[in-house]
Amino acid sequence: MSYPYEAPVSQVLFDRAAAVTPGGVNSPVRAFRAVGGTPRFMVSGKGPYLTDADGREYVDLVCSWGPMILGHAHPEVIGAVQAAVTRGTSFGTPGEGEVLLGEEIVARIGPVEQVRLVSSGTEATMSAIRLARGFTGRAKVVKFAGCYHGHVDALLAAAGSGVATFGLPDTPGVTGAQAGDTIVLPYNDLEAVRAAFAAHPGEIACVITEASPGNMGVVPPAAGFNAGLKSLCAENGALYISDEVMTGFRVSKAGWFGLDGVEPDLMTFGKVMGGGFPAAAFGGRADVMGHLAPAGPVYQAGTLSGNPVATAAGLAQLRLCDDAVYATVDAVSERVSSLVSEALTKEGVAHRLQKAGNMFSVFFTDEQVTNYDEAKRQQAFRFTGFFHSMLAQGVYLPPSAFESWFVSAAHDDAAIERIAAALPAAARAAA
Ligand code: PLP
Repeated sequence: MSYPYEAPVSQVLFDRAAAVTPGGVNSPVRAFRAVGGTPRFMVSGKGPYLTDADGREYVDLVCSWGPMILGHAHPEVIGAVQAAVTRGTSFGTPGEGEVLLGEEIVARIGPVEQVRLVSSGTEATMSAIRLARGFTGRAKVVKFAGCYHGHVDALLAAAGSGVATFGLPDTPGVTGAQAGDTIVLPYNDLEAVRAAFAAHPGEIACVITEASPGNMGVVPPAAGFNAGLKSLCAENGALYISDEVMTGFRVSKAGWFGLDGVEPDLMTFGKVMGGGFPAAAFGGRADVMGHLAPAGPVYQAGTLSGNPVATAAGLAQLRLCDDAVYATVDAVSERVSSLVSEALTKEGVAHRLQKAGNMFSVFFTDEQVTNYDEAKRQQAFRFTGFFHSMLAQGVYLPPSAFESWFVSAAHDDAAIERIAAALPAAARAAA
C-alpha cells in the first residue's frame, strides 16, 4: 500500500532505531505493524496536540494510551515535576510523596484500604496475582480472552490485540508451566466461570478481569457481569481482582468502580495515576494487603517504586482531576465518538461504536461485540485506510483496530473541529 503522507525524518529515526532496538520500538504496538507505514517519532506535546520530528502537528486521540487525561504538558503537572526534580530524582528511602499519593488513592477508591506503589501496570497485576496466590494458598488464576494485563508470564494467554492462540502461552518464552495454572475463559460468560470453579474446587486463587476491557477494543461488561464475578469468587474462596490500569482515574474520579460500584478484593492501577511518569499501584482489602512483605510473607519490591518525581507528577494530575474535568472529558468523548459514527454512517460503512464511560472504539461490523471472538470478526482491514487518512490529515489514532481511543480535558473546540474536518475523507477511505 502507498501512504498518503510520508514522514522522512521519522523514517530516518525509525531506521536508526531498528539498528539498535528490535523492531525499532520499545513497545510493540508503536511500530505500526497492524496498519503499515512509518511510525511517527514525536518530539513534543501541548494540550490535545503532538508534534512529530517532521514538524507536523496532530490532534492526539491516543493520549499516551490513556495517561494524559489533562492533555500534554499541563502547566501544573510540569510545575510539580520541575519542583520535585530539583530536589533530587531518587532516594531509595520512603518519602512524603508516596504517602500523599497513597492517601489520594485510598481516599478516592472505597475498596482500597491499603495500596503498594510500583512502576508499571505489568508489575501491579503480576504482584496482585502473586499476593492472591500467597493469601489463598492456591495456584490457579482465571483470566478472560481479550483482556490484557501487561506482559506477565502467567497472563500472556489470549491477551488481546496482538495474539490469538487460545488456552496456550501466547508467546515463545512463556513455558507451559508458567501458563499452565491460567484458565482462559470467554469474556462476559458467567456460566463459564461457574463451570471453572466447579471443575477446580479449592484450586482457584483469583479471577482477574479488566474492570471494563479496552484491549480488544472497548467491550464493556454486560450488566451484572462484574457483580457476578464478585459473588462467584466470594462463594468459592477466591479473590476478585479488578484491573483498572486503563480505566482507573480515567472514566471517573474512582475509575470503573465509581461507575459500577462492585467492590473488588484487589485492584490494579497505572496510566493516569502517574501523570505521564512510570507510576502504578495495586491495593485493596487490608487483610489481604497485610500479607505483603515486610508486613507479611509475600515478597514484592522495587528500586524505583514510589519514585519522588513520578509521585509528584501523579499527585498533581490526580488533584487536578475533579468532577469538572471528568464532565469535560465525557463531553469531548461524546462529541468525538458521535462525529466518527456520523461520518461512517454517511458513507454507508458498517460499524459499531462501543463506549465505556469516556473510552470508546469503533468496530467495523454490524454486530454488537461482547467478547474477543466477536471482536476478531470485525473487518479490521477497513481501519487501515481510515487510520492513514486521519494521520495524513493530522489526527493521530491508535495504530490498531483493537484499541480504545482516548481523549483529554484539553481537547477544545479547535481540536474537535480538526477531527470533524478529517472524518469525511477517512470514512470514504474505510468504505
Ligand atoms: N492492565 C491493563 C488493563 C492495561 O491496559 C495495561 C497496559 O496497557 C497493563 C495492565 C500493563 O500496564 P503497563 O503497560 O504499564 O505495564
